[in-house]
Amino acid sequence: MSFSRREFLACGSAALIGLSLKSEKQLAGSFVNESAAAGHLLRDRASFSPPTRTVKIPVVIVGGGISGLSAAWRLQKSDFHDFVLLEMNERAGGNARWGENEITAYPWAAHYVPVPGPQATYVRELFTDLGVLKDGQWEERYLAFAPQERLFLYGRWQEGIEPAIGLTPKDREQFQRLAETFAKYRSTGAFTIPLEIGYSNKFAGLDRISFADWLKSQGFDSRLVNWYMNYACRDDYGALVQDTSAWAGVHYFSSREAEEKGPLTWPEGNGWITKRLLERVGEHVRTGQMVHRVAPSQRGVSVFAGDTEYQAEFVIFSAPTFLAPYIVEGFEPLTNFVYSPWLTANLTLERLPESRGAEPAWDTVFMDSPTLGYVDAMHQSVRSHIDRTVWTFYWALADGAPSQNRALLLEKDWSYWKEAILRDLERVHWDIRQCVSRIDVMRMGHAMVRPTVGAIFSAERAGLKRRDGRILFANSDLSGISIFEEAQFHGVEAAQAALRHLSGTK
Ligand SMILES: Cc1cc2nc3c(=O)[nH]c(=O)nc-3n(C[C@H](O)[C@H](O)[C@H](O)COP(=O)(O)OP(=O)(O)OC[C@H]3O[C@@H](n4cnc5c(N)ncnc54)[C@H](O)[C@@H]3O)c2cc1C
Repeated sequence: MSFSRREFLACGSAALIGLSLKSEKQLAGSFVNESAAAGHLLRDRASFSPPTRTVKIPVVIVGGGISGLSAAWRLQKSDFHDFVLLEMNERAGGNARWGENEITAYPWAAHYVPVPGPQATYVRELFTDLGVLKDGQWEERYLAFAPQERLFLYGRWQEGIEPAIGLTPKDREQFQRLAETFAKYRSTGAFTIPLEIGYSNKFAGLDRISFADWLKSQGFDSRLVNWYMNYACRDDYGALVQDTSAWAGVHYFSSREAEEKGPLTWPEGNGWITKRLLERVGEHVRTGQMVHRVAPSQRGVSVFAGDTEYQAEFVIFSAPTFLAPYIVEGFEPLTNFVYSPWLTANLTLERLPESRGAEPAWDTVFMDSPTLGYVDAMHQSVRSHIDRTVWTFYWALADGAPSQNRALLLEKDWSYWKEAILRDLERVHWDIRQCVSRIDVMRMGHAMVRPTVGAIFSAERAGLKRRDGRILFANSDLSGISIFEEAQFHGVEAAQAALRHLSGTK
């Protein structure tokens, strides 16, 4: 049965919750890692107390996600230690944060990195540093174990997420033609990771139409093809095909060579990388420090957070770029930075639920669900028997306007979301309520940048990527798509620009 998001959300009514209370044990859990209230102080231009101390320091990094931590990593590796990283949350990592309980560590958002290709040189350098890549070989225990992905469709399971069962000849022809089309785009070398390497105006026209219109114009009207294209856009961009630039849609499928191995993953997802970066640069990181103002000064640029004015020469701005107009004095409003709202949840399971005979996989997806399914944190465990585990559940609120979905995220309470999650899982795992003991939910109003039509090739983005001023932008959203490799690339590039500016070699 297919649910629209609206029908699905409508199911979370009081009647439904009443029903569940009768039949199920009480579940523990709450909203966690909430940062909307603090962030909205910036949106509402609240007044902050004046600083009571000043610190002179050449470089300040704003934001401790992968981009900020990667900037710190590059500065440190270049033997430059005169910098501080300010992170608003109590823990660094941003979308690569993790949690831990007595069973396992688990991700809060990003959970894997595809095996990087030869052009992702900074990622390869980092993974060599971290022991993930040794003498040209990927460390086996960090490559996702089989079975990796399973899709539930038509009441049964298949391996892999691209629909492979119940295909009509028309579906088959369209999947085949799509694969050939993406292979042609791949061979042009214009769709790369990082984006910057292949970036060329040659295919800029694709950025001027939606992926939905492109699919239609190429005759791709199979329901299964369209489900799969929507799944891909929801998964990587938090958006539906009609809200995604065709360039970004093509990039998703044309930027990576088919790779037998991988992806790289850890129980805590990309939190593992955050941990390793913090081991290297943690002494420079100050958490619980929300930057509320960045302003030009005699020395260069002043950064205000808590009770301190940091007088810097350069700022690496790794916080999401949409915040710049609210923080940076005189910064013009932005028009090309749209963000997708997401919700993730970590479910503690006391035993594995019934799976209709299927073997557990790392990543589980249900066709025609508005959610993206879940990832099992114990999948990489070498234990022969797994009973208790943690599932990370992913839900991009892609259908509808982001602002309305953000309001929904804030308006509904934990019970509502808990119930919606359980109902989604229950369609496949009928006994899920008997297996779960805890559900923690993380709401992210501006989780990831959305590659809307025109965003990738926008003049606004090109200007921010030049890094010729005192404020060097670095968040992954500069690419228009939010993936680990882009965050790391921009962080490293911003650090290199800071070092060049400081040494006077532009
Ligand atoms: C649900 C979800 C799943 C994802 N899964 C994957 C995945 O599996 N693989 C993958 O490659 N990518 C994934 N991503 C994309 C992910 O966003 C990137 O991989 C990457 O982690 C982004 O890093 P970043 O540093 O650019 O941004 P962010 O992670 O957003 O970091 C920005 C940081 O700035 C801080 N900040 C904001 N404002 C301020 C302020 N005023 N003062 C100080 N600090 C501030 C924030 O707290 C945050 O720590 C996922 C994203 C989401 C939302």
